[in-house]
Amino acid sequence: MNLRIGLGFDSHEFEEGKPLYLGGVRIDFPHGLKGHSDGDVLLHAITDAILGALGEPDIGELFSDKDERWRGVRSEVFLEEALRRMRERGYEVVNLDCVLIADEPKISPHKEAVRENLSRLLGAPEDRISLKGKRREGFCEAKGMACICVVLLGKRDEG
Ligand SMILES: [Zn+2]
Repeated sequence: MNLRIGLGFDSHEFEEGKPLYLGGVRIDFPHGLKGHSDGDVLLHAITDAILGALGEPDIGELFSDKDERWRGVRSEVFLEEALRRMRERGYEVVNLDCVLIADEPKISPHKEAVRENLSRLLGAPEDRISLKGKRREGFCEAKGMACICVVLLGKRDEG
């Protein structure tokens, strides 16, 4: 199998009153994440990890925040484009490992719903997807959320 690994990182500040989406799932919380799109820090990091694994341009190059087409758009649109490029080249997700860094909201109550939705979006079984919540423990100011993830893509050898 041909393997390619990708790393994704993203962070967004909180924005009062905006709906919060993590991994495409609406989370009940008083703040959302600031950004040109819905601010889904998890989907942005995953999208960038997949694009990085493929050696494609990153999310900021493909979907500039200066481009009005992407204002207020759901982040599934970005992930779908990364997946389209992945499938076009014959790759699938072998596994994905994500760390969400935030003091709040707590990730554990939402973990299963988010993994289930990621499994649906990526077309990969849930046992290939890992999601962990980490508190910031004094690292930087807690005014938002960050996400780091690693994805492994694989393509079966031809012939
Ligand atoms: Zn982002």
